[in-house]
Amino acid sequence: MANPYGALDRRILGEVYGSTETMDNLVVLCDEYNSRWPGSGDDREACEYMVGKLEEYGLEEPHTESLTLPGWMRGSSRLTVTSPVEKRIPCIALPHSAEGEVEAELVFLGDGPVDIYEKRKNEIEGKVVMVTSRTPAGMTRSLHRNEKFQRSVLAGAAGWIFMNHYPTYGPPTGGISPIIPSVGVSYEDGCYLFRLLERKGKVSVRVETECSNLDVESWNVVADLPGVHEGEQVVYGGHYDGHDIAVGALDDATGAVCVMEVARVLAREREHLKRPTRFILFAAEEIGLYGSRAYVGDHPEEVEDVRFMLNFDGAGRAGRQGFGLHGWPELEPFFHEIAGAIGVDVPVSQGVSPYSDHWPFLLKGIPTATMGDPEEAHRRGGRGYGHTMHDTVDKTDLRVHRECVANSALAAVRIANTDEWPVKHRTQEEIEKLVQDRGYRETLALGERLRNYLSERRDRLRPEAKAYLDRLTATWEESI
Ligand SMILES: [Zn+2]
Repeated sequence: MANPYGALDRRILGEVYGSTETMDNLVVLCDEYNSRWPGSGDDREACEYMVGKLEEYGLEEPHTESLTLPGWMRGSSRLTVTSPVEKRIPCIALPHSAEGEVEAELVFLGDGPVDIYEKRKNEIEGKVVMVTSRTPAGMTRSLHRNEKFQRSVLAGAAGWIFMNHYPTYGPPTGGISPIIPSVGVSYEDGCYLFRLLERKGKVSVRVETECSNLDVESWNVVADLPGVHEGEQVVYGGHYDGHDIAVGALDDATGAVCVMEVARVLAREREHLKRPTRFILFAAEEIGLYGSRAYVGDHPEEVEDVRFMLNFDGAGRAGRQGFGLHGWPELEPFFHEIAGAIGVDVPVSQGVSPYSDHWPFLLKGIPTATMGDPEEAHRRGGRGYGHTMHDTVDKTDLRVHRECVANSALAAVRIANTDEWPVKHRTQEEIEKLVQDRGYRETLALGERLRNYLSERRDRLRPEAKAYLDRLTATWEESI
């Protein structure tokens, strides 16, 4: 079949492959503005930079939108084996860790499968729990760090150690909830602690965290390309914040610069876009999807009119650049046709995970997808450099950026232009069913249990845990 977009596709591809703009922007975001951590000031300056660039590209009214969120600032932290030997173990506090000190016996729960916390509750009460970052065998859904954390807290853990399951990547980071002092350790140090435990039977550790939980202001960046006609909007978005221990080059400066580049190349072809496209660079994804949640909350009417949302979290990182649809089989033929027009192997897959910025959109019924290679993550077995101090500019690859931008830009044209978009928004019932079917109802119930657990112990909680409890709503969005 003849490609009705042939000439337009070729112009877009020429523009993408003739440009180094993604890498140029990525270097500035990472080398000038560090991790763009919410509340650091670097987030504000990075937003100003991105707004300036989007203005230069000719986008309509690029601007920032402010939000307030529970932020977190790192001080220094220590992990010490106090018995049967004395030994200092390098560690980093996990974002939203409570500040404080706890000395107790160490309990190692391996990969921390869902049922182990209740089973070993008697051992866990009052102790320091260590689990790895690996998804336990036999899981049909992802088991997020925060769920392991929450289940540990519910079993009475007084401190928490998150052990990397990759050798040589150092200690992992990742947001949790401000309840108990919590740190990450490397695979190698985790293995040492486990061996010590096996040899000596009983090991005590002291976890000391210096950090602050405080409300901060941060900003989303929003920019538009109006369509030739009015109509449903296509949204392309990705988070620009990274974790504070590195510059978040792969997670997710890469995604952010790919979104900006799609905006740049489509702005040059605006007269060929039937419907409006909106580009959003989200703040504060890493510590709780705050930017995307604020956006969806602040734009109720516009959100009702979104045709499709494509999330660039991890997009342009590595592997083939395809479309991971979030449970939309009816969209597969449409995306296979796009893959056919691109002419190389482009994966079109299905899967649903609540752990990125598409989630608040998905909960509004909007058809969403993630840009990237679903198998690439499986090949690595997880995040790779993501959430470690090694997520740096030198790991990124212009070739992959270009493929990501090219494929998603060609898709944007078709999504914005087709008069026969195959799907409608999910109803509230369909959303509930999806969440239920994928096993995420359990995650929701956990949030509720945690709230009850904390309420019962309110008087004994650390100040930041009290503040957290006051914020906790019974909604399941809050539990991610
Ligand atoms: Zn990310």
